[in-house]
Amino acid sequence: MHTLNSISHGWPRLKQSVSNRHMPGHTSREVLVIFSSLTTCDPSNIYDLIKTLKGLKIRVSVIGLSAEVRVCTILTRETGGTYHVILDETHFRELLTFHVKPPPASSSSECSLIRMGFPQHAIASVSDQDSKPSFSMSHLDNSSGPGLTLGGYYCPQCRAKYTELPVECKVCGLTLVSAPHLARSFHHLFPMDAFQEMPLEEFEGERFCEACQGELKDKSVFICPVCSSVFCVECDLFIHDTLHCCPSCIHSQSTS
Ligand SMILES: [Zn+2]
Ligand SMILES: [Zn+2]
Ligand SMILES: [Zn+2]
Repeated sequence: MHTLNSISHGWPRLKQSVSNRHMPGHTSREVLVIFSSLTTCDPSNIYDLIKTLKGLKIRVSVIGLSAEVRVCTILTRETGGTYHVILDETHFRELLTFHVKPPPASSSSECSLIRMGFPQHAIASVSDQDSKPSFSMSHLDNSSGPGLTLGGYYCPQCRAKYTELPVECKVCGLTLVSAPHLARSFHHLFPMDAFQEMPLEEFEGERFCEACQGELKDKSVFICPVCSSVFCVECDLFIHDTLHCCPSCIHSQSTS
């Protein structure tokens, strides 16, 4: 994600966003504009720029601080972004945090493989005679002290040490992540399909939720489109917000 903060004559230099075209094709390219001006004065034709952004599949979202500006409406509509004008400070925070989550991967984005390393956290204790504190590579370019520590994450390729993940190894360039990081980004990029909602009266079958085994009493039931299992409202919410996978689908996968 590329956030612009350069403002020229009231209109953000959107042109700069075009320069992040060197990003690999599997990544999503996004620009978030926080816009407070009511006028735009871009030296070149803004509509040409919108066309270019659309062509490069760069999604532009705008958070307006004052009032709706027509050019922003067109810009976000054409590039597939969102456009909101804030109501107050809390609303602004809400809108901003909404953009923290990456958007789902589009089927049109190209696939490429990335080499990744999954270093284990090595713990060394002070009482251990052989363990010696060592520098972490992540402290090389920040000024916060030498950072001599015992233990850490060791790059599986070159044994460089890091104290935090995810990181790109400064020595060999390998992307170092932990499995939970990967799982977390996976469910953001490939969100689960919504379950099919059906009124309880129309539902024929055993009136028990597949997940909590409770009796289905609410107005609607939710059906997984893949395995046709039924779930209650609470379980549907829990599955989509927390689990990110259908428990019945997983169960049938492991038994088959
Ligand atoms: Zn390395
Ligand atoms: Zn349930
Ligand atoms: Zn299922």
